[in-house]
Amino acid sequence: MLPNSPENELLSAELSAELSADNSTEFSASVPDRERLATLRHTASHILAEAVKTLFPTAKLAIGPAIENGFYYDFDHPPFSHEDLTAIEAQMKKIIKANNRLERFTLSRDEAVTLMVNSGEPYKVELISDLPADAEISFYRQGDFTDLCAGPHLERTGAVKAYKLLSSSAAYWRGDSANTTLQRIYGTAFFTKPELEDYLAYREKVRLRDHNRIGREMELFTTVDIIGQGLPLFMPKGTRILQTLQRWIEDEEDWQRGYVRTKTPFMGKSDLYKLSGHWEHYRDGMFVIGDADKDADIMALRPMTCPFQYFIYKASQKSYRDLPIRYGETAVLFRNEDSGEMHGLTRVRQFTISEGHLVVRPDQMEQEFRDCIDFARYCMQTLGVDEEVTYRLSKCDPADMDKYIGDPAVWEETEARIRAILVELGIPFVEAVGEAAFYGPKVDLQTRNVYGKEDTVITIQWDAVLAERYDMYYIDQNGDKVRPYMIHRTALGCYERTLAWLIEFYEGKFPTWLCPEQVRVLPISDKFMDYAESIRMKLHAAGIYVSTDTRSEKLGYKIRDARIAKIPYLLVVGAQEEADGTVSVRSRFAGDEGVKPLSDFIDQVSLEIRDKIRREELRLDEKS
Ligand SMILES: [Zn+2]
Ligand SMILES: [Zn+2]
Repeated sequence: MLPNSPENELLSAELSAELSADNSTEFSASVPDRERLATLRHTASHILAEAVKTLFPTAKLAIGPAIENGFYYDFDHPPFSHEDLTAIEAQMKKIIKANNRLERFTLSRDEAVTLMVNSGEPYKVELISDLPADAEISFYRQGDFTDLCAGPHLERTGAVKAYKLLSSSAAYWRGDSANTTLQRIYGTAFFTKPELEDYLAYREKVRLRDHNRIGREMELFTTVDIIGQGLPLFMPKGTRILQTLQRWIEDEEDWQRGYVRTKTPFMGKSDLYKLSGHWEHYRDGMFVIGDADKDADIMALRPMTCPFQYFIYKASQKSYRDLPIRYGETAVLFRNEDSGEMHGLTRVRQFTISEGHLVVRPDQMEQEFRDCIDFARYCMQTLGVDEEVTYRLSKCDPADMDKYIGDPAVWEETEARIRAILVELGIPFVEAVGEAAFYGPKVDLQTRNVYGKEDTVITIQWDAVLAERYDMYYIDQNGDKVRPYMIHRTALGCYERTLAWLIEFYEGKFPTWLCPEQVRVLPISDKFMDYAESIRMKLHAAGIYVSTDTRSEKLGYKIRDARIAKIPYLLVVGAQEEADGTVSVRSRFAGDEGVKPLSDFIDQVSLEIRDKIRREELRLDEKS
């Protein structure tokens, strides 16, 4: 069970997320406007290409389409610097001012190839060679610049009035990593300056919330080239948040929801994946270990936990009285992602998931499935993100039943049962055709990141068929062997991605229970260091993540630093506090909370952490 499917196009990390924002709400225009805008942006890409060829005549042209939110053009050229982009933008201004007409002309294929060979444009030659021999090939000329293109464009370069180059990054010719690495310059264009300004402001807002930026700034995680892409290192603070989440989920499963815990290997023999079907269908996505010529067993790092837990079930004979059995495991899984897909923590090669498989009798299925949905909802509510989530009933595609196991009538009936559960729980949901697992329908909890890209955070899958493949059974009242049903589910999905989501949702200002540093003690001078230390020890003993700022800096400076670190509580201590055994409390929630006896403060924060209370942020806090 994998929460998402691999996509292939290689784009810059940040923009790939932005570009795939297929239904991103904020900047999607109605269709005719969209077409006009695409024409404008495509015209801007010709202007960009002309500007680059003027300033860097050795650059070779590849392609330059309009895309969601802008346009790009790919060039075979060494990487462009920030200064280069500024110069290119200035050159574009001259081209726009010249207001040249974009004139269309056509050539036969042979003439077209000759023109592009003579112009020294090998990528264009390759594009033309792919067209039918009798095709009439269109070009557009503006001033001295000519580009192979099917159009359409605006009539004159002067029509492009509001534009901006945004970034540049590497991209493979035709998106294939076996090909030459090109340099892609991204830009955007709008019909009016205010529209452009709105978009740039939106983009900046998104950039500020990006978990990849905040997470590094707060020292939650980092990445190192020599270790590899998609393999983040969690620093002590980030690890602490992941651990808080993991302990919470494991405690909830083990003490409240009747799960038993398993610990199974990170890898297995290829035979296992042949049985599961992954070897045939998912081999490219797996890390395979070993050499078929030398090793008796080829192994692979696991992309899922399912069969490992099934074999625990199969280790002994089960009776109808033993069911349901709910196996939980905080499982480390591996996926060989395309390098272009990786962005911070949302696409990684190794990730941790609150994996679970429930083995149940058919008569228990509905109740257990309902409980899994209830558990997922509880997790979302506790994290404060339930309003960010869309519940989706993911169904089979009746027009493409070859993709699924089982009879369409049974699928329809199962989908109806899940629909009834969602209705009964009072959960609003959408239905999606063709999103089911091959073995059964599922409920997915969908969310969007700051770029508008949709992701599955939690999935709960109905499986009435796989027990057959793994020969799992139980003995019923009559002594007969019966196939159990199964539920594949996560409680929090992928921890790394959940952390990314929480960073973006809270902009790093986590609720106190999730904060890696919940309290910081600030002595007003070195004289009160001992008192500060005694407070730190008491808070630590009470299970609160606390530190003391022992630097000989001014109090104002220490407070500012603590704010940047987004710490919920600051305790300022000086002579009066030491004499009275009190602390002066400043919080992210109420600003100055006044002087309190230390024990009262400890009680208050302990309760807030224990009950996972989310206090509302003080809106003015940032400015004060
Ligand atoms: Zn064009
Ligand atoms: Zn599974």
